[in-house]
Order: sequence, then C-alpha cells, then structure tokens
Amino acid sequence: MRSVWLAQRELFPTKIVCVGRNYVEHVHELENVVPEEPVLFIKPNSAISHTIAPPPASGFHYEGEICFLFLDGKPVGVAPGLDLTNRTLQTQLKQKGLPWEKAKAFDGAAVLGTFRPFSGNFADLRMELERNGELVQQGSVRQMIFPPERLFQEIRRYFTLEDGDIVMTGTPAGVGEYQPGDVFRGRIFLANRLVSEEVWKVEI
Ligand code: ZN
Repeated sequence: MRSVWLAQRELFPTKIVCVGRNYVEHVHELENVVPEEPVLFIKPNSAISHTIAPPPASGFHYEGEICFLFLDGKPVGVAPGLDLTNRTLQTQLKQKGLPWEKAKAFDGAAVLGTFRPFSGNFADLRMELERNGELVQQGSVRQMIFPPERLFQEIRRYFTLEDGDIVMTGTPAGVGEYQPGDVFRGRIFLANRLVSEEVWKVEI
C-alpha cells in the first residue's frame, strides 16, 4: 500500500475522493457546464505518488488542488496536490459518456505533498501553483462552487472516509500540459500564513 504523511505520521489511504468542476473559470476553460451538485470520482491507493513521472504522451495535464486528509472522519490535514489527467483520453471518454478512470486514476495520477495539521476557517484557505517559477494557478475556497463542508457532506452520502483517506477539492483555471524537467511548487495558505509547501520535479 502507498502512504502519505501527516507531519511525522505515516498513513495508508484506501482512496482519494476527487471533485470535478468546482471552480467556475475552470469549468469554462474546459467548456463544461456548471454542475448543480458536486461531481465526484475516485483515485485508488495505487494512484498515489510523491514524484511526477514523465508524461507518456502529449495531452497530459497538471491540476493543482487543495487536498484534505481525514482521521476519525474529520479533515485534520491539508496539503497541495496534483490531479494528473490524460486530457486527450478524458475528452474522448466524456464525449462517449464513459467513466474517467483510465484518464484520472492511473498509477502516479495523484501527486501529494506532506499534509500539515489544519484547524481554522476553511474559507481562509487558498492554493498557489508555480510551474518553472511562474504562477500558473491560484484558487481559494471562497471561489469554489461547493465549499469543503458541502463537499464532505455530499461525499459522506456515498463513501465512508476511512483514516488516511483524502479529498482533492477540484482545480482552478490555468491547467496545462507538463513536460519532463518541469518544476512545480504548490503552496497552501491560511489567510496570509503558509501552512504547506511542496516542490516536485517531473522526472526526465
Ligand atoms: Zn482535478
């Protein structure tokens, strides 16, 4: 089983529950419709990675996201993460109305930072993602169509959040392709305080 870290503690998620289309501008950049209820999908434990493998083809995208880690059914940690996506394949699957797993749940598709203990106002959380020193994505909970409490409520209707399970809360606008050698820096802020930071280099 693959693991994640909450500060010094190692945990083994059974799943990652992901949210699609949770920021209006990103919904529009992919020409999707703004959803009336959260769009959920799952990445398995085998998708977890702490490094970024080189994309096997063109059309592989990064999506920077605010991620929560659960213990005792509650979100106790926060980290930046990348929801890697085979966009070419996802677009084909969407057009046919088929599940997205081949495009979203492949090995290494959930790139996660170290989780840091979190308590405070969800509304004060925001994320920044730099690619090669350039700010490419930023998003805050205040911009989300469905804020975290609403997402957790919807998720719990369908899935038990076991110890170590993770929720990835969707990506703001600015997604794009990644290339071998790219360096990504993800940061999570609570108001103006940096609470979690991770740097990932795409392997060559
Ligand atoms: Zn995503």
